[in-house]
Order: sequence, then C-alpha cells, then structure tokens
Amino acid sequence: MKLAIWLVPFFLAIAPAAQTQAINDTYTVQGATPEREAVVRRQIQAMQPLVLPYRIRFVPHWQYLYAAKVYRLHVPTGMGSKMFTHLPTRSVFVDEDRYDGEGWLGHWLAHELGHLATNSASEEDAERAALEYRKRLQKLSTSSSAEKKTLVGSR
Ligand SMILES: [Zn+2]
Repeated sequence: MKLAIWLVPFFLAIAPAAQTQAINDTYTVQGATPEREAVVRRQIQAMQPLVLPYRIRFVPHWQYLYAAKVYRLHVPTGMGSKMFTHLPTRSVFVDEDRYDGEGWLGHWLAHELGHLATNSASEEDAERAALEYRKRLQKLSTSSSAEKKTLVGSR
C-alpha cells in the first residue's frame, strides 16, 4: 500500500503533458546520470526526429513494469522490452536495469521516436521510421570517430 501511495505523485506528474498541446521544442530527461542525459540529447539532436518526446524517463525495472501496468501496456517479460512510449503524453520510459551502452540507447531510442513520429503503436511503423533515424545516428558516430582521428593525428 505504501508503495502505491508513493507512486501516485510519480505518475500524476506526467498528466499535464496530455493537456499541453502547444508546440514544444524542449523535453526533459529524468532519472539519468548527467553523462547519460548528455548522450540522449546528442543522439536526439543527430536523429532530428519529426516529433520530440515530452519527457524521457529512466526508471528501475520494477518501476518500469509498474508504469507499463498503469498505462495498460503489454510488456513482454523476456528480453524484448527495454523502452516503451506512452503516446498520449509523449513519454518514453527506459528500463535503466537493461541499459547496455550508447549503441543500445541510440538503437532503441530511434525505435521509440519512430512510434512518436508515426503516432502509431505498431512495431512495424516504428521500425520503418527508426531506419532513417539510425542512419543519421551512424553519421554521428562516424563523424565523432573522424574527429578523434584528427586529434590524434595533430599531436
Ligand atoms: Zn515498439
């Protein structure tokens, strides 16, 4: 019971997003370390998504499952689920316990941004939009490794 009481303000905090339909070019990143937040922002900038999330929330696994339940989403219990997007509030939930590096983050963020871009819960629609985003991400990683090479070369 205590747990439920504590979680009410946690999820109520998300509610205003549904009412705010104004154009937003900003989003918040919650629950992430400053390093991870910087990675998220760099990756999203590189992907130039059609629709930005309202917020990205890193949560421990148990909270992730709870959020999915609150939103009545079916989340497979196997390895398949790492992130999900609640479309009406444009909230992306990231299962922090599954975090597996920048490549992992970019790959699955592209998928979630695909859901937002197509405003569709269909995995096929999300993946189709994600393809373009992943291409843009690849450019980001190629240009940053080129930068590193230049730096090494100039020494
Ligand atoms: Zn999906």
